[in-house]
Amino acid sequence: MYSKSSLWLIVALALVLATGAGADTFRIELDYMADNSVGGHSHMPTTAELNAVIQMFACQGHTLIIDLSDEIPHHEVLQMDPAQNWNIFGYSGVADSYGALKNEFYDHAGVSGWHYCIFGHQYEWINDAGVRFNSTSSGLAEVSGDDLIVTLGTFIHNGASGGSPFEKASTLAHEFGHNLGLRHCGDMNCRDTEDADWVDQYPLNVASVMSYFYQMVGVRNNLVCQGLAPQFIPFKNIDYSHGSMCSLDENALNEGLGTMMASADWNCDGEIDPGTLTADLNGGSRNHWCGPDLISGVHSVLSDFDEWGAIMDMTKSLEPGKLTNMEVAVCISSEEVSRLTDKVVCPQASLATEACVSTEMRYVRADGSTGGSGDCSNAYNSVSGAVAGAPDGSVIIFEPLVWNAAGQVFQNKAIFISAQSAVLR
Ligand SMILES: [Zn+2]
Ligand SMILES: [Zn+2]
Repeated sequence: MYSKSSLWLIVALALVLATGAGADTFRIELDYMADNSVGGHSHMPTTAELNAVIQMFACQGHTLIIDLSDEIPHHEVLQMDPAQNWNIFGYSGVADSYGALKNEFYDHAGVSGWHYCIFGHQYEWINDAGVRFNSTSSGLAEVSGDDLIVTLGTFIHNGASGGSPFEKASTLAHEFGHNLGLRHCGDMNCRDTEDADWVDQYPLNVASVMSYFYQMVGVRNNLVCQGLAPQFIPFKNIDYSHGSMCSLDENALNEGLGTMMASADWNCDGEIDPGTLTADLNGGSRNHWCGPDLISGVHSVLSDFDEWGAIMDMTKSLEPGKLTNMEVAVCISSEEVSRLTDKVVCPQASLATEACVSTEMRYVRADGSTGGSGDCSNAYNSVSGAVAGAPDGSVIIFEPLVWNAAGQVFQNKAIFISAQSAVLR
């Protein structure tokens, strides 16, 4: 029999083990709509699609349990509460509502620690003019809540409704990220209207499926395809951000430095200019930094954010009945996805169970990198400093200056992989 004090010790130890190791268990019950009539389609995700998301969590030491539960009737558009704008998750007044379906099919009602996800077709939304319409948004989720939907009904893949395998996996990760408290712009103020002095939802230096810039193309794939990073960056396609990209000050962009991983033509004039310049890298509705409202947009310092360090599952601390009337996040629409590929066509990554990344990305800058563009979390002011203690296979990226190390001179931007053997790439 334990004494009171030793019991407390055990409780405290258990808490340390639960939080200190950073390992957590997350649970989603997933139902999917299927139209079994002739010529119909199913929104059922495949095992490979679910495994890609499970693997994404496993790489961080987390366990994601997905209970692929019921096939449910196909409803074209999940209805919004006629009496309350934006209320989708709390409305159960008609058969084709999220609430009615949850009442009928959710097997974990009242059980803490579970999230309820429906893979459906579309949902009803309302525009700024107060007009309701059938949204083509890829999904909707409570921020820090327990309800989420993946709605790829207008995303056509191989002539069929419901999205590609990559889109299904990536969007599930995205919507679940909202449930875990993540937004579209890291920790920056993310605007949803054109006039607010906030950053837009396409931050190219938040390397995450939460950013519209990456959700449908893949993080690594889009970075490499857009020329913003070399082929061997230690990033995955389906991931939340680790906060390892450098800041970009839109008022003082340096094209030579670019993203710090590769130089970048920020003003889209076809060359890498000297000095600094001003440009809006993610403004307005143009989605790509070379779009039409270049220069004229809002300029701010864009920064990355360690999303993995910030996720929090409120279903563990709040009873299910308390997670109602929550803020919701509306996610990228099929029109926004097509605009994104208007300027630069980057093929979507193919679905894969990706290998985990255990290496680091480190930056070497003359000033050790503080402030403004190129403010990087893993910055060093000497080659030896960056090499010391870097896990084998790490990528070390140099500011384009002359660097001397181990008898080698690196002029211009030099990148080497495998820190301990200093292999120049
Ligand atoms: Zn459908
Ligand atoms: Zn979203």
